[in-house]
Amino acid sequence: MTTPDLRQITSETMAACGATIAPGAEGGLEVVSPLTGQPVARLAVQDAAAAAAMVDRAQAAFRAWRMVPAPRRGELVRLFGEELRRAKADLGRMVSIEAGKSPSEGLGEVQEMIDICDFAVGLSRQLYGLTIATERPGHRMMETWHPLGVVGIITAFNFPCAPWCWNAALALVCGDPVIWKPSEKTPLTALACQAVLERAVARFGAEAPEGLSQVLVGGPETGEALVDSDKVALISATGSTRMGRIVGPKVAARFGRCILELGGNNAGIVCPSADMDMALRAIAFGAMGTAGQRCTTMRRLFVHDSVYDRIVPALKTAYSSVTVGNPLETAALVGPLIDRAALDAMAAALEEASALGGIVHEGGRVAVGPETSVYVRPALVEMPVHDGPVLRETFAPILYVMRYTDLDEAIEMHNAVGGGLSSAIFTTDLREMETFLSARGSDCGIANVNIGTSGAEIGGAFGGEKETGGGRESGSDAWRAYMRRATNTVNYSRELPLAQGVVFDI
Ligand code: NAD
Repeated sequence: MTTPDLRQITSETMAACGATIAPGAEGGLEVVSPLTGQPVARLAVQDAAAAAAMVDRAQAAFRAWRMVPAPRRGELVRLFGEELRRAKADLGRMVSIEAGKSPSEGLGEVQEMIDICDFAVGLSRQLYGLTIATERPGHRMMETWHPLGVVGIITAFNFPCAPWCWNAALALVCGDPVIWKPSEKTPLTALACQAVLERAVARFGAEAPEGLSQVLVGGPETGEALVDSDKVALISATGSTRMGRIVGPKVAARFGRCILELGGNNAGIVCPSADMDMALRAIAFGAMGTAGQRCTTMRRLFVHDSVYDRIVPALKTAYSSVTVGNPLETAALVGPLIDRAALDAMAAALEEASALGGIVHEGGRVAVGPETSVYVRPALVEMPVHDGPVLRETFAPILYVMRYTDLDEAIEMHNAVGGGLSSAIFTTDLREMETFLSARGSDCGIANVNIGTSGAEIGGAFGGEKETGGGRESGSDAWRAYMRRATNTVNYSRELPLAQGVVFDI
């Protein structure tokens, strides 16, 4: 695929989504496709002043949108879901162009947006509070949930659109305008999504105020303008733990609300009773899918001593046979790394692993297209120790495999890392399964049995503990983060009894 071809495909796909690529000024943001490692567009970067103007527009929008009844707000999200269905193929292609995902994974990401819209539409009639028993006669106590304010959404390159939509669909039904600061590596997909949402807004009509959803293009500094604004009630930030360490304290210092969705160091445990074929397939997708660039990618594997010599040779075969290539040109299962820095981080981690006695299988660079692109074979590393690079997230396809003999020890090692996002056990033994899911089991936000660590559905709350940031978004009751709760006590009696029997007679 030549660079002019890809530029052409990019502008045609953007146009099909209803978005134009406004040419950026010199020194603006160059958008590079990892498929070729070559630029496909240049955009203007928005600075702190532009961010402040957006926040003001969003605040004005909030005053109007919070008064629109929630089920009506849901109607906008329903229309958005319809528009997403129409634009699915084009948005999926934009995800492949900007993040290098296979067509199937690109379309899957858009399907996730459609799914969360459906979920949010139902939710728009279920933003329930409780009615609570009160100790005072003739009183009633209840909770009400109100819109919170402007929501700033910061997203990572590896999921260029679904995490935005997890936030935006819920925020919109909850009565909150959104400002999206996408990754500087994937801004085009964001502009395409915004164009699709604008079509839904146009169909919805005048009840939707101007500034309900906006996109802020730029890098970390642009994101900081949102983070620092005390007019932004909630910052929902997806990205590295390094980013979260900066963003979290800043938002906390101004008493803002934060949802942090940060890095993981996800692991699987293969027990003696596991269905080995099923485990193998789940591990292969979890560790190699999306070229190891998912927050939920399986990065560590603990294999029981008694089955190590069955599963590891089978994994070696899978690693040597998996196809690597440009997913828009071939049926390759593994696409490119995002950039050269990812390759350098992978090489450094493999070198460190070797120095600790690790045996590295595969993991070399593959020549695909122009030299500027970065394609690698996923690496399988047999590690004698749970140490060094195994303890941290390297955002590349490396799976470290270790032996274990005792499940409690395996769980201890499993939990002995900073990340706390996703985890899996492969077993048909009820006791092992329940132990892994129990209070002394996996300490992650996601704990699975007989499926891999990645590929979550939108119905459950998504997020993780420890250095993953503790945030939850998407399904279950994650919507509560986008609203403020008021406890209301109503006295319909003719007396004024005080709680706890306190007397204050004047
Ligand atoms: P990154 O941290 O480099 O960037 C993420 C986003 O944060 C970008 O939009 C970036 O511009 C912005 N940003 C960076 N520093 C900032 C700052 N100081 N203030 C405001 N904004 C700032 O991450 P990445 O390389 O794009 O993505 C990969 C990382 O994201 C991995 O660690 C991965 O595990 C994580 N991730 C987590 C989840 C999750 O849901 N837990 C999902 C996807 C990715």
